[in-house]
Amino acid sequence: STIIAEYRDRTRRSAEQAEAARSVFPSGITHDARHLSPYPITVDQGKGSRKWDIDGNEYVDYFGGHGALLLGHCHPRVTAAVKEALDDGTQFAASTTREYRWGKAVIGMVPSVERVRFTASGTEATLLALRLARAYTGRSKLLRFTSYFHGWHDHMTNGYSSHFDGTPTAGVLPSIAADVVLVAPNDIEGAKAALAGGDIAAVIIEPTGASFGRVPIADGVLQALREATAATGTILIFDEVISGFRCSPGGAQQAYGVTPDLTTMAKIVAGGLPGGAVGGRADILERIDFEAAADKGFEKIAHPGTFNANPVSAAAGIAALDIIATSDACDRANAYAAELRERLNRLLKATGMPFAAYGTFSGFHLFLNVEKRSIDPVTFDPFSVPWKELKASPANLVDRIRIAMMINGVDLSGWPGGLASAAHTEDDMAVTMKAFEAAIARLKE
Ligand code: PLP
Repeated sequence: STIIAEYRDRTRRSAEQAEAARSVFPSGITHDARHLSPYPITVDQGKGSRKWDIDGNEYVDYFGGHGALLLGHCHPRVTAAVKEALDDGTQFAASTTREYRWGKAVIGMVPSVERVRFTASGTEATLLALRLARAYTGRSKLLRFTSYFHGWHDHMTNGYSSHFDGTPTAGVLPSIAADVVLVAPNDIEGAKAALAGGDIAAVIIEPTGASFGRVPIADGVLQALREATAATGTILIFDEVISGFRCSPGGAQQAYGVTPDLTTMAKIVAGGLPGGAVGGRADILERIDFEAAADKGFEKIAHPGTFNANPVSAAAGIAALDIIATSDACDRANAYAAELRERLNRLLKATGMPFAAYGTFSGFHLFLNVEKRSIDPVTFDPFSVPWKELKASPANLVDRIRIAMMINGVDLSGWPGGLASAAHTEDDMAVTMKAFEAAIARLKE
């Protein structure tokens, strides 16, 4: 297609780099979501809302570091804090004052967090949260909602390949599935019925709905889950890896006013560097507390991790969280995305493109309408279609859309859609709307 030809023409160095990378990395990439056909761009630089590929093309960035960059690339205060930490040393195998300040910031901002433990990633955070819940309750099962992504360890793997959907998943023991109860999105009656069995250790949910609202959450679901888990002694885990410090300084739990027992965090918590955290009730986090275990006579669960709370991530996290706590960063990103969704839907309607933009907070998603429903983008309600259609994003169509936008200077995420940051400006909005206009024309070719 002419879209691909133009892309190849603009990204010759990226093409060469991608070809070379295939002899180093499977598919030439280091994260499944970075896969793009015919090849992804290579990016070595970003600033604010923009990033540049190695051919020198500039992009308005909505991938946002997989969600880690609420403040955009290279926020000067975050960068300065990281440089200062680097000069002090990167690894002491000891407690640090930075980790203390970082932990205090998390506790100060996230309503349900009484104690916190840092991890090296979000996947590690959901793994630790699950283990804490099992140790605390003495139960083995986990209740999850279909289509939700919570990282890639055995109990959570999903999203890039659908897991626990009744078919075996390569590399994961079939016995794992026996302890994972899957319930359809928003099926609160199904969740209650499963919880009534009294053998579920934890329920995990992303409080905005799957993939930051790609499959949105219905009104009342969080409250109903809170009640049903409390009534059955089940641990409620909010996976705030994306929503934490994004929906509001206190995350989705603050925005919705529902208090989980445990919260998993990553991405923004570490200010754009690697890191994650589990926070929550002191009596649950106690399961990794040496003194509590000895005093109370329970078996402590292990939680080592060489790079837990590494001082460079801590420095970035302290700076980012302080900016978020003391500014309107979340509100600005939320307002930008709301305006983008609205303007895009008006454009989709005007051009007769059968897609719709929707989303919550600072996210936007494109409904690709693969079933060719007759929809009005401006009034589109994601609850009006089966959730599987919201997730139906054929890779070839997603890649075409992404590339059509890239040749017009905008990098979307592969949802497809993206995340707004506090660094996006009116100028970015103008570039983005022009790009959508041009991309829609090209997609119709
Ligand atoms: N949970 C959610 C909701 C996520 O979106 C992600 C990553 O995108 C994870 C967990 C896993 O986090 P990480 O990529 O840091 O392992």
